[in-house]
Amino acid sequence: MKTHHSRQKKIRSFCRKLLQWYSDHKRDLPWRKTGDPYRILVSEVMLQQTQVDRVIPKYQEFLRRFPSFTALTAASPREVILAWAGLGYNRRALNLHAAAQDVVKRFGGKLPSTREELLSLKGVGSYTVGAILAFAFHKDETALDTNIRRVIHRVFFGSEFPAWKKNDKELESLAKKLIPPGRGYDWNHALMDFGALQCTARRPLCETCPLKKICNAYPKILEDVKHGRVKTAYVEPGPASSPNIPNRIFRGRVVEALRVAPRHTLSFDTLAHQIKEDYTEDDEPWLANLLTTLEKEGFVCIKKAKEDILVSLV
Ligand code: SF4
Repeated sequence: MKTHHSRQKKIRSFCRKLLQWYSDHKRDLPWRKTGDPYRILVSEVMLQQTQVDRVIPKYQEFLRRFPSFTALTAASPREVILAWAGLGYNRRALNLHAAAQDVVKRFGGKLPSTREELLSLKGVGSYTVGAILAFAFHKDETALDTNIRRVIHRVFFGSEFPAWKKNDKELESLAKKLIPPGRGYDWNHALMDFGALQCTARRPLCETCPLKKICNAYPKILEDVKHGRVKTAYVEPGPASSPNIPNRIFRGRVVEALRVAPRHTLSFDTLAHQIKEDYTEDDEPWLANLLTTLEKEGFVCIKKAKEDILVSLV
């Protein structure tokens, strides 16, 4: 009984302090100035793996070019990939294009507002659904991104070192209970901003943190960060000759090289030397594998032409 009571007290204190912090520190971001579900979906897809600062100009540029689901649907996959330049993780561009086609075909051009229907759209996972429901439809849902996950874990369960003590399902279940009724929109933004500005992965500002008195991670987290113990996400390594450059960087370079190439096409060898300065024959199986994956994912076409292999953007 006492435990339940103190947990409720902590939740109330957490909500109050966090919303107070948010009213003083909220970020002024362009996608927070619109209620248009299309624009909010575009921003959420762009933000999935790209930093806010890089997204802002691309978001505005993309919307000038494709202002609606219908406009995006009318474009070819190649045009959308070209417009995605600079954002990386190009798979998102193709998924967004496919989702737009679906919205136009199945939902008359209006983004649906139920979890099940949103989940049926290409590239829209559980996190994006939560974000759309909270930000476009003002529902009391959670958008459990890496920032929110980290903040909730630290405050309620402690440091993420040596291992996360709770899985995503458990964190999501608690996150839902934390939402002050009717405040899902502000609440998710508050947690995101707090994770991005105050309780960051590598340099949490614990000493000035309004939550430190109720935070289970404080002060151990400072030691964990100082000694590099806090874990970072798994990154798929690149070729054996350059294991420190992850494959996602080379994937991005392939698409970028084809974007600017004449007719968006290059021979295998030219492409190889453009994306990897020290390319040798030993790298060939790795590159062939990388390109086959990109082809399966719908980014490139690979064709045999006499002695050459030609790689083109879709
Ligand atoms: S005290 Fe530190 S770890 Fe805890 S919420 Fe604040 S910034 Fe995050």
